Amino acid sequence: MSTKILLVEDEPKVSAFIRRGLEEEGYDVVVAYDGTFGQRLALSEAIDLLILDVILPGQSGLEVLKAVRTQNQALPILMLTALGTTQDKLLGFDGGADDYLVKPFDFAELLARVRALTRRRSHAEAKGSQLRLADLVVDTAAKTVARAGQPIKLTAREFNLLELLLRHQGRVLSRGEIAEHTWEEAFDAGSNVIDVYVNYLRNKVDKPFAKKLIHTVVGMGYVLREE
Ligand code: CA
Repeated sequence: MSTKILLVEDEPKVSAFIRRGLEEEGYDVVVAYDGTFGQRLALSEAIDLLILDVILPGQSGLEVLKAVRTQNQALPILMLTALGTTQDKLLGFDGGADDYLVKPFDFAELLARVRALTRRRSHAEAKGSQLRLADLVVDTAAKTVARAGQPIKLTAREFNLLELLLRHQGRVLSRGEIAEHTWEEAFDAGSNVIDVYVNYLRNKVDKPFAKKLIHTVVGMGYVLREE
């Protein structure tokens, strides 16, 4: 079965270029030219990846992102943005995007992100294992997370980060190691994106529970373990 991608992009030249390229790579592509229609499709169609432009007629990309995330936590979402500032990127992440690409970009760059976001999904499905630490249970096949029997909803990127920490439980992972395994792109040295993501994860996985599992090792990185 081919991977189905919904592309929400209002600039006809850009959407035609992306669509053609992805179709040549064997992906099944559906295009929406405004945010309102894009959101409707994202919520009604069975898609494997959403590529979402930020500035759109109708609903903005960030509005669509929020609406889709409240109903679907697991769908990988790649944002396209012309606004290259860190603040805007983090706003996008905060709404639950898994990755972003700043325009203009090379098609090869887009393809690498698309492959990473769709491969992670099928790779985890194929393994179909359950990972545990204390009362935390992650099912990489069903894409579910629970603590003390309570289900926890994570975005695709938060899930990947938790899976990485859990597979290496007890070992301190540096920000560089986390970036290398969870993000495809290189980071500027000053970026705090990893810290931001660990925080999102903590709020969901640790904060509501007495026993903390995610620990900061000052000057080194993060570790998942029982203390
Ligand atoms: Ca646009």
